[in-house]
Amino acid sequence: MFFRIDHARLMTKCLLCGFAVITTLVCIGVLFPDKGDAAPQGSNAIPTKQAEQSMPDESDSVQTVSTDRRITALKSTKVEWKLRFNGCGHYITLKSQGDIAGMDKEEAKAAYSDYSAELFTSAYVSLVKDSDGFCPEHYVMLSGEDGDMLEVYKRNTQTLENEHITSIDISPDRFAEDIAALQAGGLLFNSLQEINEYIESAE
Ligand SMILES: [Zn+2]
Repeated sequence: MFFRIDHARLMTKCLLCGFAVITTLVCIGVLFPDKGDAAPQGSNAIPTKQAEQSMPDESDSVQTVSTDRRITALKSTKVEWKLRFNGCGHYITLKSQGDIAGMDKEEAKAAYSDYSAELFTSAYVSLVKDSDGFCPEHYVMLSGEDGDMLEVYKRNTQTLENEHITSIDISPDRFAEDIAALQAGGLLFNSLQEINEYIESAE
């Protein structure tokens, strides 16, 4: 009897519990699939949608930048005008040679044909003109016209003209291994002291 009653009670308890469990499972099942589906779908859907939207957008904008958008110099653009000396590879900065505001690279090249744009952005433009010879930092020693003297020149930093610095009464023939250079482009020195040491080495 006890067992049967207990058993019956247990059965009803179990049924009730089962029902309760089922209802809670259903409730959880109703809630979780919603949340579970919503969350992954939401979190997955948003990035994929963004990715799908942004990827083509990015490539579109890259294409429009490279093809359509003109990079022009603005009033605020820092423009540097430079001279590059082919003899030594050094640059000097020049005064402004004109106004390129509103121009793109091709227009600037057309307007200032001596110059080429090493860099052309709306923030910074570098326009460079090539020049033969050496920059004003160097002394150039050459064989004199008569071939019996050495002449030293240095470019003036302001005018950029070659200026005669001094004549040295020593025959270029004394420098047999450098005679070709002395008669052509000249020998390069960074100071008069270097020239003195060079002359002394031959005496
Ligand atoms: Zn130089």
